[in-house]
Formats: sequence, C-alpha cells, structure tokens
Amino acid sequence: MLKSLYFKIVLILLIFIIAVMCAVGAILMNGVTSFYTEEFTRQMTDCFAPDGLLMNDLQVAAQNNNYAYEMRSVLAAYGSILGIDQYRNYYILDTDGEMIAGSDTTLGAELEITPNMLSAISGAGDNLAAANMNYSDWAVRMSATDDGKNDCIIYIKDSLEEMRQLNSMLFSIILQAMLIGILIAVLLSFFLAKSISSPLQSLTHGTQLVAQGEFSGEIEVRSADEIGVLAENFNFMRERLRDTIDEVEGEKEKLDTVLSCMRDAVVAFTVEGDVLHSNSSAAELFGEELENGTLTIEKCFEALDLPLAKLGNSIILSSPDVPVEKSRDGFIFRDRICDSRVYDVSFAVIKYIETSRHIASGCVFIIHDVTGRYELDESRREFVANVSHELRTPLTSIKGATETVMMDPEMDSETRDYFLDMVLSESDRMTRIVSDLLVLSRLDNKRTKWNIETFDFKNSVRRLCDVMKPDLDAHGHTVNFESDEVIPEITADRQRIEQVVINIMSNAIKYTPDGGKIDLRLIATPQSTLVLHVSDNGIGIPEEDIEHLFERFYRVEKSRTQDAGGTGLGLAIAKELAIAHGGNITVSSKVGEGTTVRLELPIECKLKTEENSEKQ
Ligand code: ADP
Repeated sequence: MLKSLYFKIVLILLIFIIAVMCAVGAILMNGVTSFYTEEFTRQMTDCFAPDGLLMNDLQVAAQNNNYAYEMRSVLAAYGSILGIDQYRNYYILDTDGEMIAGSDTTLGAELEITPNMLSAISGAGDNLAAANMNYSDWAVRMSATDDGKNDCIIYIKDSLEEMRQLNSMLFSIILQAMLIGILIAVLLSFFLAKSISSPLQSLTHGTQLVAQGEFSGEIEVRSADEIGVLAENFNFMRERLRDTIDEVEGEKEKLDTVLSCMRDAVVAFTVEGDVLHSNSSAAELFGEELENGTLTIEKCFEALDLPLAKLGNSIILSSPDVPVEKSRDGFIFRDRICDSRVYDVSFAVIKYIETSRHIASGCVFIIHDVTGRYELDESRREFVANVSHELRTPLTSIKGATETVMMDPEMDSETRDYFLDMVLSESDRMTRIVSDLLVLSRLDNKRTKWNIETFDFKNSVRRLCDVMKPDLDAHGHTVNFESDEVIPEITADRQRIEQVVINIMSNAIKYTPDGGKIDLRLIATPQSTLVLHVSDNGIGIPEEDIEHLFERFYRVEKSRTQDAGGTGLGLAIAKELAIAHGGNITVSSKVGEGTTVRLELPIECKLKTEENSEKQ
C-alpha cells in the first residue's frame, strides 16, 4: 500500500499543498505585519511632523495652564487621523513617564516604559520601529514653555491586536484553504493515479503473461501519451518476441525431427557429464538408463567400450593403443561392439548457450550402427576362406594322386586306375563347386537368364523321382509320392525349379542311411501356391544348425557330411532360386528321426510378373 503509485501521488500532492499554503501564509502574515508597522510609522511621522497642524495645535495647547486637558482635547480631535481606536491609545505623560491624561479607559494601568518613551524622556526624540514586539509606539516630547513647566510626552501606543486578529483570520482562511486543497488533492491524485496506474496495470499484466510464455493478449492503447507509447512499444516487442520464439521453436522442432529421423543414435552431454540432448535412436540403444536420467558420460564410455575417461571437466584418451581416427572436429572410434551389435562412434566437443547466456561446452556422440557392414565384411572374409579351403582339398588330392602316378612308372594298372579315378572325381567336385559358385554369383548380380514357362509341376516331380531312381535304388531307399488330385500348372523357370527339387531330394538321399524312406507330398494351398514336402527318416539336423543351413558352404559337422560329397552350396542355391520365384524353403528336423524340407512356390511366379511389367 505504502509503495503504491496512488499513495505516492497523494503524498506528493499533500506535501506540495502544505508547503505552498505555509509559504503563502508566512508571506501574507509577514506582509500584514510589515504593512501594519510601516503604516503606523508613516502615519505617526506624518501626524507629528514638526511643522504639522497637530504639532502646532499641541504647542498652543501646551502653553495653557491646564495643558493636559487641552492637549487631550487636541489629540481627541485628531483621533481619526491618528487612528485612535480601542487598540490604539494616546497618552499625555509627564517627564517621568507617568500618565497625566489619555484615551485609554484603564488610564495606562498597564503602560510600561518603552525604548521610544525613554528616548522622548531623555529628549533624544528617536522613534524606532519595535522589532519583534507585540506593540507599536511613538513618543514625542512637547516643550511649550521655556521654564519647562509644561513639558510633557505625547505617547501613542498600538497594541497591534487588530493586526493579530487579522493574522489569525488569515491563518484560519489559509487553514481552510489548505483543508479544501488537501481534499481536492486526494481526489485529484486518486483520478491521476487511476489514469496512470490502470494502463500500467494492463502493462504489468501483459508482461506477466509474456513472462509465463503467453503471447496472445494484446494491451489496449488508450492514450497517445508516454504510457500509450510504452503500451504500443510493448505490443510491438511482444510480437517480435513471439516471432523470435516461434522461429527458435521451429528451428528446434526441425532439428528434433531431423535428429529423431536419424538412424544414428545422437546423445550430447554437458561438461559435468549429464545428458543434454538425445534422439529416439539413442533411447533405443541406452533404454531405461536414458529414460530414467541415470545415463552419465562414464556409462556411455563403458557401454560403447570407448577408450575415453573423464578427468574433472576434461575428457582424455584412456588407452592410447586403441586405434582412433581423427575427424574434422573430434575423433571416430571404429567397430565398437555393444550388445552384439557393432558401431562406429564419432565424438566431438560442442559449445552451447545455457539459460543464463553463459557459453558452456560439452560433447556429442554420434553412434552409427555398422553391424550390417561388419557382418558383410565378415561373411566376405569367411566366404573367401571357405572357397579357398573347398578348392584346396580337391587340389591337394589331385596333386598327390598325380605325383604318385608320375613317381612310380612301374605302378600296376589297378592302382593307377584308382589314382586316376580320384583325380577325375576331385576334378568333378571342383567343377561342381565352381559351377555352383557361378550360379550364386549370377543370382547375386541379377544376371541369371530366366526361361519362364507354364508347366505341370506335379509331372515334373514325378519325372524327377524316376530320374533319381538309380540313385535311390543304389542306397536301397523307397520313395513315395503323394499329391492332391488337382494341382494347377505353374509359371516358372522349369529347369531351375527342377534343380531345386533335385538338390532337396539328393540331400534326402545323401543324409539318410541306406534302406531309408523318402516321402514327397504335393499340395495346392488357398493362397495360390504349391507346397512340396520332402521328408526322410535320415540322420536329421541339430536345431541350432537349422537357421544356418542356407548359408554358403555351411555344412552340419563337416566331417560327417564330407563323405557324402556335399559342398554346402546346394541349399543356398535352392533357397535363392525359390526366393527369386517369389517362393521359399524352410526346414524342420529332429536328430535321428529325419528331416522335412518344405518348398513353397507361387502359381504365378514373381519373375513372370516382373517380366510383364518390364515389357510394358
Ligand atoms: P551339401 O552340398 O553339403 O549337401 P547343402 O547346402 O545341400 O550342402 O546342405 C547343407 C547341409 O545341410 C548339409 O551339409 C547337411 O549337413 C545338411 N542337410 C541338408 N539336407 C539334409 C537332410 N535331408 N538330412 C540331414 N542333413 C541335411
């Protein structure tokens, strides 16, 4: 309340009015006093001028025996000129200052000796204005006779009561004026304060809204004065601020969108090691720790196996022997393994502005998932190693057999035939590997020439059973082929689809002990596909190997299957061919009980559809 604008204005106006009234009162009352005393002096000087009428008459009267009575009559006659009234009296005093006659009804009972009176008694005749006295007086010595018998003092004394009454009346007028002024001041200051404070209150309310981030309310400009200009400027400032904040928020949103769309995880830390910013990929990588806010820079180093450590506010390389690549503004740590995935981690120092406009530094990690590339590199390395290994084995056998034959010219024909057979079969094996690799390579490079035709798949399978009969008989296997009554014809590359069936059937023959049973069942599904199940009661496949069966050169227990003459490429080729047609191959198996391979083919193969769309 005491600090309110209204109170301040009232106080200022009150002080102003009181000060003005006091000054006016003081000036007025001082003026009245001066006027009164000066007027008295002027009047007395005029009246008692030595050659004036009054003095002449008094001189005449003073020469009488009854001079006091005569002089009193003269003074009474001049009463109005002398201003004699109830407050101003004249006295005729003897030379001792004792009253002889006068106008005072109390006959000078309270008459006291004054400086002017003393001056007249002594004959000096100087009349001084009484300073700070509550009266004004004038004394004149009359010497009418030479013997001085009739010497007396004419003494005029004004009690200044009239002046005091005037002053007190003035005082009460000023007091009344002051009270009215105060009342007017209170009212005026109320309206003044209201007219100033209500736009200020609107401004205050507006600033509070802006401080809370609410930019919608515009302040009404009611006047063209300074406050009106202030309100207008405030509205302009609010608009600019809103535009700026919108712009900043827009930029932030854009950045957030870009960051959240990034497949790379991005996480920034403050210099203290707390998370400053992160994107959704980082949330996937660090999970709950990031959500709970418990992720720290040290935990990040640990999780990504980074050779970094935090020392106070700086970050140092903890293992200098770990290979580090320098980037434009930081480092890149390649192939860091975290939760069986592989990442390239870029690390850089950043500068950012804190809320207090203080420029702080921190760091940012960009974590790029390179598991795919890493696995591809690995599988390439593995593939090259596998090819080398698969080719080296038959080459070693060929070399050994040839050397043996060459070193022993006397060798009997039976042994020589044995070694030459070995050379032939190992050459066949190498040819098979190379042609299988060629098939895969063409499939990989999409350079396979397809020969799409419509044919009866049921007939194909039946024919293949006949073709493979010698092989089946050689192992003493029985084969049983069942099929739905009506099997629609399919469009596919007949030769390659038959190759798929041969690969599957030859595996069933190879990995089933002699005298086994191989069942083929062909069905048409409502999804316009044909499904061929090839089941055997062979050695089966361990569960953990099933998912790897379609990898190139993968063989379950190499030693176990080496004898069967496999290369580990048959199922890989079969799967690629089936997928190229829009179909698939899956395997289910139990060790010691047998294996079922399920080949699914669409009636209208994918290659046909692609061919048609290419033609169009
Ligand atoms: P391979 O030329 O060695 O037969 P495949 O790619 O055709 O190569 O088969 C991969 C591996 O899967 C084989 O080495 C074998 O261990 C296993 N396998 C495939 N079919 C069968 C089956 N019917 N019974 C048991 N094991 C099988």
